[in-house]
Amino acid sequence: VKQKFDRYFQETIPRSLQVTKSAKQHLVAPTHFDRYFFPSTYPLVVKKAYGCKIEDIDNNTYIDVSCGYGPHILGYAHPVINEALQKASQQGSINALGHFPEIELAKIISEAFPSAEKVIFSNSGTEAVIQALRICRAYRKKDMIAKFEGHYHGFSDQGMVSSWFRFSGQKKNPDPIAGTLGSVKSVVNNTLVLQYGDPGALEQLLLRKDELAAIICEPLPTSMAKIDHEFLQQLREFCSTHDIPLIFDEVVSGFRVHYGGAQVVADVEPDLTCLGKIIGGGLPCGAVTGKKELIDVAKSSGDPFIDYEQKTFVGGTMSGNSLSCAAGLATLSYLRENKHIYEQLHEQTNWLTTQLEEIAQNNKISLQVSGYGSIFSFTFSHKKSKFYREKQSGSNFKANLALAYYMRKHGIYMPELHTLMLNAAHNMEDLEKITAAFEKSLCEMTA
Ligand code: PLP
Repeated sequence: VKQKFDRYFQETIPRSLQVTKSAKQHLVAPTHFDRYFFPSTYPLVVKKAYGCKIEDIDNNTYIDVSCGYGPHILGYAHPVINEALQKASQQGSINALGHFPEIELAKIISEAFPSAEKVIFSNSGTEAVIQALRICRAYRKKDMIAKFEGHYHGFSDQGMVSSWFRFSGQKKNPDPIAGTLGSVKSVVNNTLVLQYGDPGALEQLLLRKDELAAIICEPLPTSMAKIDHEFLQQLREFCSTHDIPLIFDEVVSGFRVHYGGAQVVADVEPDLTCLGKIIGGGLPCGAVTGKKELIDVAKSSGDPFIDYEQKTFVGGTMSGNSLSCAAGLATLSYLRENKHIYEQLHEQTNWLTTQLEEIAQNNKISLQVSGYGSIFSFTFSHKKSKFYREKQSGSNFKANLALAYYMRKHGIYMPELHTLMLNAAHNMEDLEKITAAFEKSLCEMTA
């Protein structure tokens, strides 16, 4: 199969392969962040992206189901975002000074979530999580953070603990393990890892409550694409009882599954929310929002010497820069005025995942398709798993890789190993093309 793919891609993406090869003299790899861990065997170099389409430098056009890992909910090169960016750039790229896009973006975010009283900006989801955890450690004067196995919170040492691939310890009581080489051991060991959705997690929390600075989770674990209302409610009750801040990482789900986020769907309010991706409209942006009492831990008293003792620092040179904020503001304003987009995305994703599941069944392929909102993913496995470690160990990753390359042959770009997403630019014709490509791909995979 590898030889067949090699031949096929040599013929169809020769320039992408050549440019990638020479770029590696200076760059680890000219693709997305997964390049370090899952380098694409047949990487694309993209010339342009518009709507739900991407065009590579060999002039192939694909229907994209990556959405750039999430930011592009309106589709690439949306005119409203382009116009806002043009206008903002003409006024100069402003950072480290006050400006309207930042003020307006903070306002629109605060109005979208009942739990959002104030906003602190940063440049990515990773930074937003780092800020939120630091605020909570300062507030509680404790170091330990509780998180859940399989929940990725960005690439910081703590955000990556037990977030993917390798797990250790009992399912009920996992050991914290470094998500990557180079992580600080003491940070890893200051992480209490729990099983999401398992009542045992609440028992563990009770045992360790006095050590905890915060509990962080993805209210819609992207890898499982499911909201567990009851468990979220239990976490909320636990945190309120023991005055431990509850952080929802909505870097992916924020403004994607609902105008607001998964917390609005679940009707559970966290103390802090981490945002990223969509709020930057395709430019780098992150934010922490939440209760004033917590956010104010980072608010200056006006005296740096007092602040040094009593406040926490979470600043950054480019945080809240005018271009990212203008693009984010244009995106959120458009979504606020066009909330039917969410209904459309839900309906389309339901339709698509049902079709894909049926095609797999008809072809007798053990494939689980999960989806929520506009987020969906494939797991080549016999059964649906409740827990991430089961999903991880029971699934055939090589089949995911093969599927991605077969789909590419049929005009669909999906990243090899990542959650997939639809955007507002996908129409029924695109979805039918995706299902047709999927059917052909499965037939070829099993031929
Ligand atoms: N949190 C979650 C749930 C994510 O999925 C990601 C990235 O995919 C992050 C945080 C980190 O965001 P970023 O890649 O913008 O740093």
